[in-house]
Amino acid sequence: MVIKTAEFVISNMVVNRCPEPNMPEYAFIGRSNVGKSSLINMLTNNKKLAKTSGKPGKTQLINHFLINKEWYLVDLPGYGFAKAGHQQRHKWKTFIAEYMETRANLVNVFVLIDSRLEPQSIDLEFMGYLGEKGIPFSMIFTKTDKLNNNKLGNFYNFYKREMLKIWEEMPPHFISSSVDFSGRDEILDYIEECNKTTDFSDYVPEKKQKK
Ligand code: GDP
Repeated sequence: MVIKTAEFVISNMVVNRCPEPNMPEYAFIGRSNVGKSSLINMLTNNKKLAKTSGKPGKTQLINHFLINKEWYLVDLPGYGFAKAGHQQRHKWKTFIAEYMETRANLVNVFVLIDSRLEPQSIDLEFMGYLGEKGIPFSMIFTKTDKLNNNKLGNFYNFYKREMLKIWEEMPPHFISSSVDFSGRDEILDYIEECNKTTDFSDYVPEKKQKK
């Protein structure tokens, strides 16, 4: 897929203020500092589209970007930041669950996984949650430029073994780096293929209830 346009649409905290669900939507999520903003900027060829935040976990917003005027890329707040308290984590969970479970045009969630770390329970739990709810997801292994082929192979095999303890097979997955642009074509082609199988254009907004 060639990226022709990438425009910021809206940031908000409330799912019902998201744009009308009349186009396919792809959400990106992961632990804070996983490389999500860098990946979004790399995919859209725009160094500034997603902000690389200096304060992890501070922005609890759903950020919508319209790509090629035909699909939404959604940047969701990161999870697993060390300093978050119980209350903040609870807030995050409720807010994300509302988005994940009610957004009608959500085609796929890309769960970003830092390839320098061993499998983190918070990531495995989050994917478990998506599985339980039947929400389609794929994995993107980030920052793979930091590993040589040997280390990347070991990392992948180890991760796969962990996943197969829970899952029957590996979900779709991508090896990426925002530094050397690896994975870019594969991720965008995957989205393009998914777009072909979805059609939300006949979405009709619900009529306001008359009292
Ligand atoms: P976010 O918090 O998930 O949005 O993560 P950022 O995109 O802000 O990245 C966190 C840190 O990891 C920054 O210092 C980035 O420069 C670095 N980073 C992100 N992606 C990559 C990558 O693909 N390769 C390398 N080497 N560093 C990366």
